[in-house]
Amino acid sequence: MADLDTGRVGAAFGPGAARPRRWRRTSALRDLVRETTLAPDDLVQPLFVVEGRGERVPIASMPGVDQLSVEALAAEARELVALGIRAVLVFGIPEAKDAAGSESHAEDGVVQQAIRALKDAASELVVLTDVCLCEYTDHGHCGLLDAEGSVLNDETLEILARIAVSHGEAGADVVAPSGMIDGMVGAIRTALDEDGLQRVAILSYAVKYASAFYGPFREAAEGAPAFGDRRSHQMDPANAREALREADLDVEQGADGLMVKPALGYLDVVRRVHERHPELPLAAYNVSGEYALVKAAAVNGWLDERAAVLEVLTGIRRAGADLVITYHAKDAARWLQEPS
Ligand SMILES: [Zn+2]
Repeated sequence: MADLDTGRVGAAFGPGAARPRRWRRTSALRDLVRETTLAPDDLVQPLFVVEGRGERVPIASMPGVDQLSVEALAAEARELVALGIRAVLVFGIPEAKDAAGSESHAEDGVVQQAIRALKDAASELVVLTDVCLCEYTDHGHCGLLDAEGSVLNDETLEILARIAVSHGEAGADVVAPSGMIDGMVGAIRTALDEDGLQRVAILSYAVKYASAFYGPFREAAEGAPAFGDRRSHQMDPANAREALREADLDVEQGADGLMVKPALGYLDVVRRVHERHPELPLAAYNVSGEYALVKAAAVNGWLDERAAVLEVLTGIRRAGADLVITYHAKDAARWLQEPS
């Protein structure tokens, strides 16, 4: 601290002064004391799968991300494994939708085909599947609806359980219920166990906010609600204590892991859920709108994409996430393999 009378640097910088910069002097010193690591096997690549043999279909609002046909998955799986990415999260876009979302649990549904194709191509790849109804219903909501158009809770649980069982039977390692329907984890656990699928883990979207940052995803997954919104089941962005309650309930129901979605506006929630349940793996979903922000700025030359992406992903890990679901996964894995 400078002495205001003499202008001289005071005792704090005399002999024995604390100098945190000593650890920042060289790259090797910085590497040695780095607190948070980021590796390709911390990342989960989301996949949007369509039926048939079509080519990759680019998603305009998510440059670099495509819808993939089932047939294109084998090559994709091998590319991911070569990059060191060990896990994917599968979303399906069915050819036919109806009010009850019946394609969601069909044995030859698009996700069920996708799971088998991924496992055939790369059996060691961890396949997580999204379990919800919104991509399969013609109204685009996350559950069955009553006459007024409200999402029915308990009636929806039975369908979610059927979806999870069908994914497990097709070979999924982890099912990830995303609808924020009360009781979904317990209903799915019971159904999986009754079907002999004890090996299938449940990674619950325990804390999912009604966020504006899902916009590009709705183009990617073709799952925008035809009317209304999802605020009757997804959480209010203003609430954090409620997040802990949601996490507690899912743990009580048998969740094997928890998720917070989105990530960047909710890093305090990631931290609080991590501290509340340090015994469970915690995922954070770096969502489509967050991806689009970085991409749009990078395309315009407004920031250094590589540095920004690695900083974002490291920040999510530092907040307490064990794994990060991100559309940047392939780019990040490539950059992490290069010498820095
Ligand atoms: Zn949904």
